[in-house]
Order: sequence, then C-alpha cells, then structure tokens
Amino acid sequence: MTSPQSDPAKAETTSATEAQPKGAADALMRGFRGHCPACGAGRMFRAFLKVADNCPACGEELYHHRADDFPAYLDIVIVGHILVPIVLAVETEIAPPMWLSMTMWPLVALIATLALLQPIKGAVVAIQWFIGMHGFEDSKGRRLAPAATETR
Ligand SMILES: [Zn+2]
Repeated sequence: MTSPQSDPAKAETTSATEAQPKGAADALMRGFRGHCPACGAGRMFRAFLKVADNCPACGEELYHHRADDFPAYLDIVIVGHILVPIVLAVETEIAPPMWLSMTMWPLVALIATLALLQPIKGAVVAIQWFIGMHGFEDSKGRRLAPAATETR
C-alpha cells in the first residue's frame, strides 16, 4: 500500500526498471501500439515493417526478433475470422449488387490486413522480447536481475 502523497524521490527516478512492463499483456500492448516493449516510449519500427535495431528512447536491442512470417499468418487468421462472418451476413441479409461486393470486400480485406499487420508484428516482437526468445535472453536476464533485489 502506498500513501496518496507521491514520493518525490521515487517520482524523479526514471530508471529503466520503472519503465519496465508490468507483465506480458503490458509488453504485448506496447508492441501492438508500435512502442518499445522495454520502455514503452520509443518507436519499435523504423519503417512500416522494419523493426529498429535499437529503441531510440532507451537503447534496448530489438534486432534479436525472429517474427518472420508469423505476423502475416496471424493477420490472415484474425482478419479472416472477423471478415468472413460479416461478408456472409451482409451477402445473405442485404445482398448488395455484384459490382459492389466485388469491389467492397477486397478493399475492406486489404485495408484491414494492412492496418493490423504492423500492430500484430509489434505484438509478436514484444512477446518474443518478454519471454526472452532468440537473442532476447540477455535482455530478460538484465530485466529480471534488479527486480530480485528490489525491496517493497
Ligand atoms: Zn525503449
């Protein structure tokens, strides 16, 4: 339990430990928003799908990720599971003209897929970072070491 008055010594401290995510879901959401999973401040991407080698804010190494094709696979699964029921419902209930269906659905699928691809990749990289997969083991070790000695 902390007092309602903020501790000035603690408030001024901006160590990397305090910026650490509270858990896997927090790290995942930071990645989903395109932010560094370690600090939540720096941008994870230097281009649409290019992960920055290091976080511009805290310097965390991000080049260890091995997201590969997994974000694209997840994107297809998620968009498919959202879009197919909507397409079926609209096509059976409203039955729009063929030309409209043939232009609208591919466009909606393209926009939804592109809109979700970077957030999904960010989430995948963040989870790899949080779990300590691939080259992220050292980062996880450094992250967990101060927490063991931290007194509450
Ligand atoms: Zn960072």
